[in-house]
Order: sequence, then structure tokens, then C-alpha cells
Amino acid sequence: MSYPSLTLLSGRDRSVVNRHPWVFSGAIKSHPKAGLGEIIAVKTNHDQLLGYGFHNPNSRIICRLFEFTSEEREFDREYWIGKVRTAWKLRQRFLPPDTNCFRLLHAEGDFLPGVIADVYGDVLVLQILTKGGELILDHLLEGFQEIGFQNIYLKNKEAAERFEQVNLENGWLRGEGEAERVVREHGLEFRVDFGSGQKTGFFLDQRENRLLLQNVSRDARVLNAFSYTGGFSLYALAGGAAVVDSVDVSSDAVALADENVRRNVPDAKHNAIVADCFDFLRREGNLYDIVVLDPPAFARTPKAVQRASRGYKDLNLHGIKQLRPGGLLFTFSCSGVVDRDLFRKIVFGAAADAGRDVRILHQLSQPFDHPINIYHPEGEYLKGLVLEVGE
Ligand code: SAH
Repeated sequence: MSYPSLTLLSGRDRSVVNRHPWVFSGAIKSHPKAGLGEIIAVKTNHDQLLGYGFHNPNSRIICRLFEFTSEEREFDREYWIGKVRTAWKLRQRFLPPDTNCFRLLHAEGDFLPGVIADVYGDVLVLQILTKGGELILDHLLEGFQEIGFQNIYLKNKEAAERFEQVNLENGWLRGEGEAERVVREHGLEFRVDFGSGQKTGFFLDQRENRLLLQNVSRDARVLNAFSYTGGFSLYALAGGAAVVDSVDVSSDAVALADENVRRNVPDAKHNAIVADCFDFLRREGNLYDIVVLDPPAFARTPKAVQRASRGYKDLNLHGIKQLRPGGLLFTFSCSGVVDRDLFRKIVFGAAADAGRDVRILHQLSQPFDHPINIYHPEGEYLKGLVLEVGE
């Protein structure tokens, strides 16, 4: 069997030649005769095969490659199950002790565009964000069953239906019951509500960064801004923090953060505060020893970068001002379009405006279960800095 093919314009889109997994619509010579989500072959204008991907004629990204190869191939059930097996092996190899929640499939990072799978104990929460992903869903489900998951919950974004016409209803695909679990991360327990929580219910990508915070939190007064369900707050308290203020606009998130803290550290000094962080950070009061800033993505498209930069700068400026001399700032951006260099420049601007001595102690990223395909720099979405803020 051979797949319909797409031909690239000569000299354009060198990036696909260099294994970048996206083909932009402006870089093609001929459209494939294929429907939305179908598998297509990608060829150079010299008819040289580069690989295969999922087709979306309506998107700026007309093809997302999942396999680079110069040989004609077929993609059967065994191929997709193999992707699940490979991803599972990597997670088994690197998963830290006393942890039963992690990302099993990270889209392009696992050579599976548009497919995200997060594990919460015995449940796998799935996001299918491309039509191509929907068309191979049965094979993926077989793969999940093979590695031992009987409970699969679908938690899609509305954008998947709008831009990719993914036609799947949220809810249990396999199994049944309450859409939540209590999971363990580095020995700490969190209740994850994947039915109504944000994304798949928990931010697994901060696991290692939270541990770093835990290790420096003894006796510290900590502000966790954009605290969601209290990940950083609980680690800080587990590390001996004197007091933690968790601030988020979502009252549900703040309530769950407090519940998660109490479940592990019943007598913790924890203040769960519903507020807008931009306002909260402007309040004057006692200074903190540690401030964590982990806002949502301010920019999702290149056009939005400038505005987002102003938002990040404002936050970081006021975050720095909330620190006593010698305090620590854990600051993050999870906008894929704001790269590491730009983020650092923005924080530089904030530090300069605050007029304080600032040193970078650590540069943080996403953990092994959110792998970054080296040819796909956009996949490095989480960036963080640990700064010591002096006089
Ligand atoms: N640090 C968290 C994840 C943060 S997600 C963790 O480790 O789990 C971003 C959070 O920011 C969401 O919970 C969202 O409700 C909150 N948020 C978004 N805009 C906000 C604002 N202006 N002020 C306060 N919280 C905000």
C-alpha cells in the first residue's frame, strides 16, 4: 500500500529536510489527494521520500510528521502499539521513586503529533488534538491495554474539534466511576480531578522543579503565585517552610490546593488565597524568602509575544520586589513561543527595573517524560530560572 504524497517546494522549508516535524502550507508545491487526518508521504521536489505524517489541509501546519524515513513503509496496528511500548519503557526507566503520575505520551516529543497521555495511578487521561490521532485511536487503546491500563478517560480541548474536527466526547473511553484519583508524586499525595480540572488535571511538568523548591524551603516564608492545586506549596511545606501563601484566581483550585496540603501536612501554616496575582503582587506587606511565579501561557501565537512579554516583565518586577534581600525567585514561562533567550531577557529587564543584584542559580526545564525532539525546538515550552535576589 502506498500513501498519497505531498511535494515540497524546492529550497523551501529546509527544516523538514532537517527532521523538523511540521510542514507549513506555504512550503508545498502540490497538495496530496488525501482527507483530513489521513497519513501522507512527504517528498522533496526531487521525489525523494522524507517521511510520513498526518494531513490537515485546513491548517497552517499542513502535515505533522511522525516518522522520518527514506524507505516506503506501512503503518499498521503493530506500529502504533510499538510507539506506546517505546514510550512506556522510557518512563519505566526514569520515573522517580514513590511516584505514580507521569506523562506517557508527549505528542511530537514521542513522535506522535497531537496525542497526549497522562497517567494518574490506574487511570490514563488522554488528549487527542489531531484528526490523525483520532483515526489511530483504537490502536493506541490496544497499546494502553497491553501495558496494563484498563481505565482511559478522554479530556479534550475544545480547539481540537474546531481546528481538527476531532469528533470525540469527553468522558470514559474504558472503565467508569468518579473522574478523579489520589496520586503520589515523590511520596506526596495529591487529589487530581481530571474530570473538571485544567488540562488533564495536574501539572506533571513541574515535578523536578518542585523537588528543588522543597530542598531549599526550610523555615522560609513562601509565596506561590498561580498556585493551581498547590504543587509548589505542598513541596515547600514538606521541606519545612514556615508559612506558604497560595494565590490563584480559581476558587476551586485554591480549595483543592488547601485540601492537598492538609492531606499531607495537617498542621501546615498555609494560607489559601483567591486573588488576581497581578494585584496581589502589588500589595505591600511582609517580604517573602521565596516567591514562585508559574503563570499560564500568556502567548500561544507569535503575534501575541510582545504583549505576553509585558505581562511576564510586570510579574517578575513585582515578584522581585516582594523578596527580602537574599531571597529566591522561582520564575517560569510555559509559552512555547517565548523561547529561553527571550524569557531571560524579559527577566533581565525586570531585575534592572527593580534595581537589585540578581544571580541565576539554576536554569530549569521540563522533565524526561516531556521529551523535546531536538529538531523541534518549539517542544521546549517550559523554561524556568531560580534567581537569588540581593540588595
Ligand atoms: N504552578 C501550578 C500550575 C499553574 S497553572 C502547579 O504547579 O500545579 C496556572 C494557574 O494560574 C491556573 O490555576 C489559573 O487558574 C491561574 N491564573 C491564571 N490567571 C491568573 C491571575 N491573573 N491571577 C491568579 N491566578 C491566575
